[in-house]
Amino acid sequence: MSLQQFEVRAREVEERVAAACERSGRSRESVQVIAVTKYVSLETARQAVSLGYTRIGENRWQDVKPKWEAIGDAAEWHFIGHLQTNKVKDVIGKFAYIHSLDRMSLANEINRKAEQLGVTANCLIQLNISGEESKFGMAEEQLVPFVEQLKELPAIRIAGLMTMAPYEMEPEQTRPVFRRLRELRDELNARALLPYQVQQLSMGMSNDFEIAIEEGATWIRLGTVLVGKEG
Ligand SMILES: *Cc1c(COP(=O)(O)O)cnc(C)c1O
Repeated sequence: MSLQQFEVRAREVEERVAAACERSGRSRESVQVIAVTKYVSLETARQAVSLGYTRIGENRWQDVKPKWEAIGDAAEWHFIGHLQTNKVKDVIGKFAYIHSLDRMSLANEINRKAEQLGVTANCLIQLNISGEESKFGMAEEQLVPFVEQLKELPAIRIAGLMTMAPYEMEPEQTRPVFRRLRELRDELNARALLPYQVQQLSMGMSNDFEIAIEEGATWIRLGTVLVGKEG
């Protein structure tokens, strides 16, 4: 994609984001775009950064490594894919946020590696609200017991909650999933299980980001609609 084509797309996305913010009485600044570059080249990822999309989301360390090495601190790196316990060592200390914390064994390993490096690991808890078998994430009943156990893991800080809605031909149908994630965040905060407030709601992708914004998304993860799909 040429830079010019990219700019046109970015403008279209920007208009849709702004309109969704306006419909729901939210400020534009309350929603941040994470540009998901997993389907595109290093060059396209660089273009995204040059256009101001400095939050970059990727799913697999093997794929992101060349981009991470080339772009480095010019971007804030978000790990949004399923994370195997034996891959924690690759991502810890490199990604500002891990969006896919969904089980205790993973939390233990993240905490262990973060302590070794002397860093805090900012994580989002991934929930499978729709209950689809193909989706990662914990069931919502597991959330409170999970958070209670996190007290033992001082190197983990919970920045927010993350979910993926099922793909729907009619994006409106994703609304209950996003609404539920917001309610769960608000319940966590009301119970004060953590010594700080959990803020971020990472929800909404190319197909459904406007509905997610209307339901309170603070981070939308945009791949295809923003950076396209190559190769
Ligand atoms: C690939 C991916 C995205 C972006 O998907 P698009 O539909 O192309 O916007 C967002 N979030 C996660 C977790 C992904 O794996």
